[in-house]
Amino acid sequence: MSQEGTPLKTLIIGSGPAGYTAAIYAARADLQPVLYTGMEPGGQLTTTTEVDNFPGYPDGVDGPAMMVDLQKQAERFGTEVHIGMATAVELSNKVGGTHKVTIDNDKVLEAKTIIIATGASAKYLGLPSEQRLRGGGVSACAVCDGFFYKGQEVAIVGGGDTAAEEATYLANICKKVTMLVRKDHMRASKAMQHRVTAKENIDLRYNSEIDEVLGDQVVEGLRIVNNQTGEKDEISITGLFIAIGHKPNTDIFKDQLDMDDAGYLITEGKSTKTNRPGVFASGDVQDKEYRQAVTAAGTGCMAALDAERYLATIES
Ligand code: NDP
Repeated sequence: MSQEGTPLKTLIIGSGPAGYTAAIYAARADLQPVLYTGMEPGGQLTTTTEVDNFPGYPDGVDGPAMMVDLQKQAERFGTEVHIGMATAVELSNKVGGTHKVTIDNDKVLEAKTIIIATGASAKYLGLPSEQRLRGGGVSACAVCDGFFYKGQEVAIVGGGDTAAEEATYLANICKKVTMLVRKDHMRASKAMQHRVTAKENIDLRYNSEIDEVLGDQVVEGLRIVNNQTGEKDEISITGLFIAIGHKPNTDIFKDQLDMDDAGYLITEGKSTKTNRPGVFASGDVQDKEYRQAVTAAGTGCMAALDAERYLATIES
């Protein structure tokens, strides 16, 4: 923890693959990082089951277990990990300046560099039946969980590029994919739409919304409503994928850091630098395109290297 009057070298906000990878690299570079986990220690991977696509695990790995391992690895090199939420920031504009981060609306920490790895949260529809069955067949990541529904019938909600891409991905492994789009057209690019319509096993339904997810412990079906006619019908499925967008966790950085229209942090060129000197962004908070654990980990590494170089410059 920082001593009175001595700012931390590196404060990391967030505990997904980006945050912990930044911590591993920062600790090994002797930046004595302090990491605050946020509300969901371990990040989005703790809401998934098996992770089969992270390199180095030939038999897959349990998502929460992988995050515990990442934490242990970061701590092994001296990272201080604390449970707590960054609730406000005061980011310096000056090269070599000190940044202030308030934790849990209470304690204020000072740091020379900040690595933001606060991630993004998948949006859900908000239906009680959908929330009840999260982890029981309702998922927000087809690439993570689609494989468990191999050869089965599933549904996906959304009409953007993510939904189109994930529907196509699911169509390659599942028997049938019902795609529900709430408007009479898709928002996805024409190229992505063509990929969807080219798949014979995607049943594309426009003007369609979910009235209720059916099933007690696990997903067994959907009651669908046509929002033009009010007509309802039921289908049997075992998996429901929600692909209606993500919300980056950047509210506390508004008016201080540059963001795009959707609230993702903007970084400079191929680096993790934000518009404030000594403040770096890694993982899903600055990436709406790839959003994979391995890409988040990669940018976490980059952020630690960027922080190390920045500190070397201001200390020289
Ligand atoms: P988008 O915000 O682009 O699309 C969200 C979709 O979900 C829209 O069709 C929207 O419908 C629908 N939706 C939102 N809320 C609801 C709801 N409550 N019920 C039903 N449907 C709902 O998000 P994406 O994640 O698809 O894409 C995010 C960004 O990432 C985009 O810029 C996209 O281009 C990009 N991307 C690019 C890829 C690529 O190029 N390969 C792959 C994946 C993403 P409506 O249209 O009616 O608002």
